[in-house]
Amino acid sequence: MTEEHLSPLRMSSPDINEEDIARVVGVLRSGNLSIGPFVEEFERQTARFVGVDHGVAVSSGTSGLHLCMRAMDIGAGDEVITTPFSFVASANCVVYEGGIPVFVDIQEDSLNVDDALVGSAIGPRTRAILPVHVFGRPAAMAELSAIADRSGVDIIEDACEALGSEYRGARAGALGHAGVFGFYPNKQITTGEGGMIVTNDGKWAQRMRSMRNQGRSEMGSWLLHQQLGFNYRLDEMSAALGSSQLARIDELISLRERVSSQYQQLLANVPGVTLIAEGRDTTRMSWFVFVVRLDADIDRDMVAKQLGERGIPTRNYFPPIHLQPFYRDRFGYKPGQFPVTERVARSTLALPFHGRMSAQEIERVSTSLQQAVDQQIRLRNPRRSIA
Ligand SMILES: *Cc1c(COP(=O)(O)O)cnc(C)c1O
Repeated sequence: MTEEHLSPLRMSSPDINEEDIARVVGVLRSGNLSIGPFVEEFERQTARFVGVDHGVAVSSGTSGLHLCMRAMDIGAGDEVITTPFSFVASANCVVYEGGIPVFVDIQEDSLNVDDALVGSAIGPRTRAILPVHVFGRPAAMAELSAIADRSGVDIIEDACEALGSEYRGARAGALGHAGVFGFYPNKQITTGEGGMIVTNDGKWAQRMRSMRNQGRSEMGSWLLHQQLGFNYRLDEMSAALGSSQLARIDELISLRERVSSQYQQLLANVPGVTLIAEGRDTTRMSWFVFVVRLDADIDRDMVAKQLGERGIPTRNYFPPIHLQPFYRDRFGYKPGQFPVTERVARSTLALPFHGRMSAQEIERVSTSLQQAVDQQIRLRNPRRSIA
């Protein structure tokens, strides 16, 4: 084995080119580092890409979700129905305002919130449904929208993992009352830290612009604060980077697609490993991470450990939110309450994934995964024959 063969791989990697760098340097040279033309340009560009009227740039996906809760006036005891199979921010945003995230279990195939269960979770205190397009896979938006319309509640899409994904031909983020994207460095495009709210609701956009900027009004003076606000602004360097990245979003999505299809080819017939099927209504999949499921009798954590020893990092996407220490303490959740989520969470493994992975790197990960899984199958179940 060569030295190169053993060098550790990265879990993810931002795709930064010379144009991105030049744009950020241009902002630094301009001397105008906050509240300027790049944020406005990035907002217009994102809204156009998603197919909605307004973009509101914010400091993170989390702050974007928080402002959506504020826009709805979520308060003590208000309920928001969401999924426990997600990154913790999608539930935390409700708790920030004293609301209660009401978890419902996911579908085993789509990994997204089960719309049938959402229907029965609606109650008198329900204010919104907050679906997460997990790993870039659009949730069942038609069914969820029908429930929301019937019950008079809003839909906020957590589209932080799904920039560019399409559901029945419409882009993620354009399917609810508002949608939120995140631009952390492992996402499809990055601004370092940053996020964007997209919506067709002009009143919401205006309120959100004020709330991200300390409650100032657009016309008012710097020291006039109309409402309780935050500093959730995105700076100009980040916006310039985001704008440069979004200009080549199709290329970035295609590069990731190439990596995921090579993984799919190599892992299609590996005993013990199941690929996650594409959703029926997904007309374009924008890959956020590449996640596989391992058979229930395989010790996922041992597989992860063995891969780690070979320089291949992995992640357990996602540990269920309801079993996080804070959620157990605050809301009394226990194992067994969301069996599908818990079963999926025990068996999923995210592999190293970014658009610039070489064919050799993808092969190295796939071969090592196959070997580690084979070994676990033999250890756990000596009588189970392997091809
Ligand atoms: C990335 C992500 C967010 C936002 O994360 P930030 O780090 O705050 O930008 C929110 N929800 C989900 C599901 C995410 O994956």
